[in-house]
Amino acid sequence: MLATFHADLHLHTCLSPCAEEEMGPLAIVRQAKKKGLDVIGICDHNSAGNVAAVRQAGRREGLAVIGGVEVCSEEEVHILGLFDEQESLLNMQRLIEENLHGENNPELFGQQSLCDQNDAVVARETRLLIGATELSVDEVVEKIHQLGGLAVASHVDRESFSLFSQLGFVPRGLQIDALEISPLHSVAEAGDSFPQTKGYRLVSFSDAHRLEEIGTTFTTFRGISPSVKEFRKALLGEDEREILN
Ligand SMILES: [Zn+2]
Ligand SMILES: [Zn+2]
Repeated sequence: MLATFHADLHLHTCLSPCAEEEMGPLAIVRQAKKKGLDVIGICDHNSAGNVAAVRQAGRREGLAVIGGVEVCSEEEVHILGLFDEQESLLNMQRLIEENLHGENNPELFGQQSLCDQNDAVVARETRLLIGATELSVDEVVEKIHQLGGLAVASHVDRESFSLFSQLGFVPRGLQIDALEISPLHSVAEAGDSFPQTKGYRLVSFSDAHRLEEIGTTFTTFRGISPSVKEFRKALLGEDEREILN
């Protein structure tokens, strides 16, 4: 049976150096529920290290959690990879690790905290997660698809780390599943202001780095479950699935 899901699929945790320490797995899940979201996606910069803990917190508190990662390509373009299967996400993680260099300086960039499902810090990631990988946009999207994931170009309307800021357009032949509009613009405004979005499916997520930002923007879809598989069908308009906003 088809149901409606409010989805905010681009949230950072305290593993991202630029996110607040308050972004622990349990705190995120509780805030998302308070905001009326049905499903969240966890996409830290170049790492899926906190996804399992958020999934556990979600299971306990009754909130669907999709695992993901926000990859920074060599062109400094951010791409979200969203996966139903934890194993596929971990394969993506391994590829990123092989192509990411540099050590974090917490005083300069911020802490990168790995947590358990109760928000206790269990370790600090030492590799610098906000750097660019040596993977091109094409390679990132291709690999996400090979692993069965959904590839979304992050905040294309932003003036940094986006397809439009770095390349100016969507490269020909790039099999991107959707373009994300940041909370700076409504989807309708972005469609008018950025003609490069024409012909692509647009979604909107909060890209929250602080608790209060969670759910400020989200995308509503109809499907049978709050999964990547169903979200993809909604984007394609298959089997009566659809995006509602
Ligand atoms: Zn980003
Ligand atoms: Zn982000």
